[in-house]
Order: sequence, then structure tokens, then C-alpha cells
Amino acid sequence: MLQDAGALVLFSGGQDSTVCLAWALQRYARVETIGFDYGQRHRVELIQREKVLSRLRTFGDLGSHLGDDRVLELPELGRLSETSLTRDVAIAMSEAGLPTTFVPGRNLLFLTYAAALAYRRDIRALIGGMCETDFSGYPDCRNATIQALSHAISLGMDVSFDIYTPLMRIDKAATWALAHDIGGEDLVNLIVEDTHTCYLGDRQHRHDWGYGCGTCPACELRANGWRTWRQRQHRHA
Ligand code: ZN
Repeated sequence: MLQDAGALVLFSGGQDSTVCLAWALQRYARVETIGFDYGQRHRVELIQREKVLSRLRTFGDLGSHLGDDRVLELPELGRLSETSLTRDVAIAMSEAGLPTTFVPGRNLLFLTYAAALAYRRDIRALIGGMCETDFSGYPDCRNATIQALSHAISLGMDVSFDIYTPLMRIDKAATWALAHDIGGEDLVNLIVEDTHTCYLGDRQHRHDWGYGCGTCPACELRANGWRTWRQRQHRHA
């Protein structure tokens, strides 16, 4: 049974947000998506998210109630950020102990914009793929941050928003397993073929876990998660 209420999913076209979108489609009768163009170095992310959305719409029961998609342009965020996602900077660890892929406060902004849209669309559930189990340790992905922001947004807009982060406590292997639970091999195939994770924007090299350079931190996480998930599957078979 689907909940009548609507949900707005922060959807980037990556593996995590695709699983979150499927999770939302399994629970809510009306699901909309929001994405952000902040001058990402690799436009491939924005191209792939369109592909994932159009393929998901063909997923019978799961995709039939996938609603509107919006992409907001936030070029200032790119201009403010000296990171390897928006500039030609090598991916490494900074002196603050954060990877150079960190865009300061990105998720705070994204969720606040999402809430502003949700407010107008009469949606009170926001869903995002933030995960504190990733080694990257982005402080705006931590549960405490998300819960505090949920409180602040609810106070600031004077309506009660809930932010759901289905991946917060699970690792990448469990994210693959969750995708399989929701949509079987078809959804796993869609994630492999069309979602984009690689920090270098590589769509040339195809691995069993999808496309990517295979060596950047995002590819390593995705590949390791895939291998662990497949091993767990075999052990339980
Ligand atoms: Zn990569």
C-alpha cells in the first residue's frame, strides 16, 4: 500500500540517489525529483540522470507514479567552491582531513532548496542518499546534521518536514542489496548501466559494477560494495 502523501527525492543520477528514488516509489503515491546544476566539472552526471529517470518510468508498478523532475541552477555554489568536483583539482585529502571533492555545505543548500520546492508542491517528505558510513566523512552527510537541518527547516517554514535518508547507516554492499530487494535484477542492471558515480566522469570503461575509471574514491567505494554484495549473495545461496 502506497502512502497518499507525496515525497521529493534529491536525485543526482548516482547509485545512491537512484536507490533512494526506488525506495520512495515503493512507499509514496506521488514522487517528484529535484536535481542541481552547480557547475559540476562533469556534465555526464546531468545527462545520466535524465536516462535513469526515463528508464525508471518504464518500470511498471514502480515507475508509474514517478512525477515531475526539476533541475535548479546554482552556479554560485560552483564559483564558491574550490573542489575537484567543480574545478580541475586533483582528488586528494585536504589539510582539514576532508577529500578535495568536498563542496562545503552542499547538502545543507540542496535540502533547503528542496524544502522550498516541496513547500509549494504540498510535499512534506524529503528523501536523500546521505550516508555516514562512507569513509569520505562529509560532515553534511551525518545524521546529526540532517536531523538538525530538518528541525531548522521545519521551524523556518512553519510546517513539519521529515527528511528520510534510507542509506544513512548502511554500507555500499547493503545499498546494492537494497536495490535488488526493491527492483530485482532489472533495477540492479539499470544502476549498473545508467547511474554515474565516478569523480572523473569516465563513461568509457565498463566494469561489472558499471562505468568509471575504477580508481577514484567513488569508483572504489562502488566496486568494493559490488564485490562484497555478490560474495554475500553467494554465501547465502
Ligand atoms: Zn572513477
